[in-house]
Amino acid sequence: MATSLPHFESPAISGLNATSLPVEMPFERLRDSYGRAITDLRLSVTDRCNYRCIYCRTGTDGAQYTDLPIADYAHMLRVFVSLGIEKIRLTGGEPLLREGLLDLIREAADLRPAFAPDTKLDIALTTNGHLLAGLAKPLREAGLQRITVSMDAVDAETFTSITRVPGSFQRVRDGIRAAQDAGLGPVKVNCVLMRGFNDSQIEAFAEFSRTEGVIVRFIEFMPLEEHSEAPGHRAWAPETVVRMDEIVERLNAVRTLVELPPNHISETARRFTFDDGIGEIGIIAPVSRPFCGHCSRIRLTSDGKIRTCLFSQTDHDFAGLMSHGTCDDDLRIWIRRIIQRKEARHHIGEPGFLKPSRSMVHIGG
Ligand code: SF4
Repeated sequence: MATSLPHFESPAISGLNATSLPVEMPFERLRDSYGRAITDLRLSVTDRCNYRCIYCRTGTDGAQYTDLPIADYAHMLRVFVSLGIEKIRLTGGEPLLREGLLDLIREAADLRPAFAPDTKLDIALTTNGHLLAGLAKPLREAGLQRITVSMDAVDAETFTSITRVPGSFQRVRDGIRAAQDAGLGPVKVNCVLMRGFNDSQIEAFAEFSRTEGVIVRFIEFMPLEEHSEAPGHRAWAPETVVRMDEIVERLNAVRTLVELPPNHISETARRFTFDDGIGEIGIIAPVSRPFCGHCSRIRLTSDGKIRTCLFSQTDHDFAGLMSHGTCDDDLRIWIRRIIQRKEARHHIGEPGFLKPSRSMVHIGG
């Protein structure tokens, strides 16, 4: 039996007559206090991972947060979509480890954006690619449209020394090819560049884009790493960031870059191809060229907490409210209030900068 939020005044008390709220069609698109439309949800479906990357504690100590039942994620998705979410990115840990993932994608594929009911949700997934070869076709058939593979290197020796999983590079490359064959292309390959760790791979990644027909996206390293004593752990510092200008200079030395127009206004990557039109490179530069002004994203962690920004200092317990039997109308009002408090931007490199309350691996990307 749906109940009102225990510590949340019912809409009637707060002057909002709950019965006047349209149940399925929200009264307006979800926006934050800066007027930014919130249309993208990143949902982590597990904190577990099958890689043991040297710079990641989870790779050493295992998952830190619980998974929720797939039905709970599906319920949360329905509430978010009714508020105007149009893009969903499934993440982890490693999402392909999650039982029931195909069912969740099928459910999401049946949902229609509240403000564009004649269209489909844009459903994407980010994976380390290790299990992709065997799952690419079923994922596509379930309704997945786009896939991104996270890679730190494109030679087998370096790749294996990072993941500490023998044969991992071949598995990932086979997975990428299977995804292309299954119609999930063009596959995006994300690489977080860290100086002195994998910045030697820039030229090789450019060639990988041209030979494999994938979109390689270089990402500036952000202070979202875990604290760890693990050998090889990379702590963020300004000098560990390989900035956009340097990446462009290195790539131009390989072959002349040609800038491409953005696909949409909130796209985080600057897009390039080479002068012969072969290969596509994206550069995501949150440190040297922040894009918070157009931020359209919120995140849901594997244990059901809403994070309004990668650098949030707090979580908001969606799963907890659902477990109290809170009705969807009250959940929508509660989410709107949280989004009103979404951070304006990050403050990387500024005096007083605070690291977020969770590291990237436990947020999900
Ligand atoms: S740092 Fe926060 S506000 Fe800026 S783009 Fe990322 S999530 Fe959005």
